[in-house]
Amino acid sequence: MEIKLEDLKVLYSQKQLHTKIKEVAKDLNELYNGEEIIAVCVLKGAIVFATDLVRELNMPLKMEFIRLSSYGSSTTTSGKVNAVDIALPDLNGKNVLIIEDIVDTGLTAKFLVDFINMNFHVKTLKFCALLDKKITRKVDIEPDYYCFEVDNKFVVGYGLDYDGYYRNLPYIGYKE
Ligand code: 5GP
Repeated sequence: MEIKLEDLKVLYSQKQLHTKIKEVAKDLNELYNGEEIIAVCVLKGAIVFATDLVRELNMPLKMEFIRLSSYGSSTTTSGKVNAVDIALPDLNGKNVLIIEDIVDTGLTAKFLVDFINMNFHVKTLKFCALLDKKITRKVDIEPDYYCFEVDNKFVVGYGLDYDGYYRNLPYIGYKE
């Protein structure tokens, strides 16, 4: 499948995204109630969402970045998660919030949750995704927080790419 900019339809506009992100941030501010957190942004896809989300969070916060990949240049997951860079500081005793772009099969989310639980005794671990593609789930995992559910379409924009492109679109788009 090739995706051209002129073929894209808007699924969620910039305004809808910002409104929803503020709502999710409000829930997170209530959950943590001023306690310090480590926000772990999963590169590259979650970068745009994470930078908007953290600016709505009001607790002491450190950001960490890890890089995983599962898609290559196609529009379907390879089914294998590659840890490109998963260097993390000591997370023992910390409130850890994973920030991801989309949970699709759930393999990446499960890999990450298992990785953190195997390597650290965190105080709390929460998973926040911009999008939840529940219908394509292959493993039993749900994000604790998400902004929007999407059905089985390949979406781009707002951090999500097609072959590296379209991450800079301010909306979530799809090709019909
Ligand atoms: P999972 O491991 O849950 O199958 O896939 C997670 C990763 O696949 C996401 O972090 C994202 O990078 C990529 N992905 C899954 N669905 C889509 C989609 O609809 N569009 C784009 N651009 N990437 C997707």
